[in-house]
Amino acid sequence: MAELSRRRLLSGQWRHRSDVIRPPWSCEPSLFTAGCTRCQDCINACETGVLIAGSGGFPEINFQLAECTFCRKCADACEVQLFYPPQYQPWQHVVTFTALCLALQGVECRSCQDSCETQAIRFRPRLGGIAQPTLDTAACNGCGACVVGCPTMAIVITRSENNEQ
Ligand code: SF4
Ligand code: SF4
Ligand code: SF4
Repeated sequence: MAELSRRRLLSGQWRHRSDVIRPPWSCEPSLFTAGCTRCQDCINACETGVLIAGSGGFPEINFQLAECTFCRKCADACEVQLFYPPQYQPWQHVVTFTALCLALQGVECRSCQDSCETQAIRFRPRLGGIAQPTLDTAACNGCGACVVGCPTMAIVITRSENNEQ
């Protein structure tokens, strides 16, 4: 395991882990890590604490800590031009309800719906059962508020395969 990590470190593969979410509006992941000086100015500027120093000291999003408010303080703090202008879409994410979801297990819960400001999470009634969560992908902005809002941490957010940024 240690040898694998060492090889990854030497080959630079650790920089491009596909499960890592970089800050909103940040450029294509390989360009981002190539240009980022790891100064942590963006992390220090982040108003919610959702942006942390991840693997290698590069900034990454951790939705288990907080949500992103799209304040753009991270982008404004960066002296290297690693962020797209505000008129671009900040990111494209996929929200998944995993098997830990209480409603999927037959227990009444709508906490994620309550924490979603854009009303992207709705609950579809099920005959003789508990209402099930559904996602309106067009309404979801990928803010991550539902992750911390879920009592069982059942929601996982990942980068969309179609994410060009
Ligand atoms: S937009 Fe604001 S809340 Fe979101 S990661 Fe950047 S600084 Fe943090
Ligand atoms: S402010 Fe820019 S250069 Fe500094 S760590 Fe953040 S993204 Fe990297
Ligand atoms: S990521 Fe944000 S907008 Fe999308 S479902 Fe969760 S709380 Fe709602």
